[in-house]
Amino acid sequence: MEQIVIVGSGPAGLTCAIYAARSGLSPTVISGEEPGGQLTKTSVIENFPGFRSIDGADFMAKMMEQSESCGAKIIFESVKKIEKTKDEVFLILLSDGVTVSSRSVVIATGASHKKLGIPGELELSNKGVSWCATCDGPMYRGKRVAVIGGGNSALMEAIFLTQFADDVFLLHRRDSFRADNIMCHRASDNPKIHILWNSVVSRIVGDSKVREIVIEDVNGGEKTVLPVNGVFIAIGTRPVTEFIGDILDFDDEGYIKTQNGSAETSCRGIFAAGDVVSGSLKQAVYAAGAGALAACNAEEFLGVR
Ligand code: NDP
Repeated sequence: MEQIVIVGSGPAGLTCAIYAARSGLSPTVISGEEPGGQLTKTSVIENFPGFRSIDGADFMAKMMEQSESCGAKIIFESVKKIEKTKDEVFLILLSDGVTVSSRSVVIATGASHKKLGIPGELELSNKGVSWCATCDGPMYRGKRVAVIGGGNSALMEAIFLTQFADDVFLLHRRDSFRADNIMCHRASDNPKIHILWNSVVSRIVGDSKVREIVIEDVNGGEKTVLPVNGVFIAIGTRPVTEFIGDILDFDDEGYIKTQNGSAETSCRGIFAAGDVVSGSLKQAVYAAGAGALAACNAEEFLGVR
């Protein structure tokens, strides 16, 4: 029987693991399908205090190493289901069929990439359609790519891609970005980035590889065809909560509701931290803080604080 099982290995989950390990709880972390979470796919982090600029994958590798050296055990599996027994024990079923039992659980599963839901998107995934410039950008040296979205992720991806591609078309459905000012300036000032406002992509076309996209002007409905070699979709994320079932309360968008500024959820013994929580500021530094809070709340619940 574990004292605490942490589901997710991004900044929230691993910070929680570091705190819980240092309190002697010997936490078990279930990494999920993407060990290290979304940040492993971020080219550069410039706003985490203490690191003026650090590669996302390096940053998460350091955090993982630190949590293990503090005494956390990491299991590289996903969680399929969580159940609570009448004895107040949580049974956590993993994708390899193993069940782990624990007195408390911290959910820190973050969020996954949203899809556009247009023809060609899934068919041409890994054939030119990507959700990760850090992973796939180097394949587009000297080529033309499109980035879809108007938030920090889209602008960051577009700027990163200019290291490789000759032309980066940044398509946004409105006429102003959602991203931070500093990112807007960097994107607008980059001669390789061509911003197409009020533009949505209605179709991605290709056979064995992406060949072109069909763009619609949101005002007039006018259609144009843009030849590109790659399409990077960066339109936000949705919470990873499918495995939880109806054991917790969620907000309208499926994020976990927590209570009174704590990490406590509607189910006693289950805590939540990071991007998966309703109203969370989706930033690594915030997720790390939330992970620490979840560990402290779990320690109180377990009677070790
Ligand atoms: P956001 O939700 O901030 O932005 C999503 C963008 O995609 C919006 O511009 C939105 O348009 C657009 N969009 C959404 N759905 C569609 C659609 N179906 N078709 C076309 N466009 C669509 O997500 P991000 O992933 O960019 O960022 C998530 C969070 O992470 C934010 O809080 C962000 O600040 C943070 N972040 C911070 C970074 C940093 O270094 N500081 C780096 C990356 C992310 P519209 O604006 O019209 O809604």
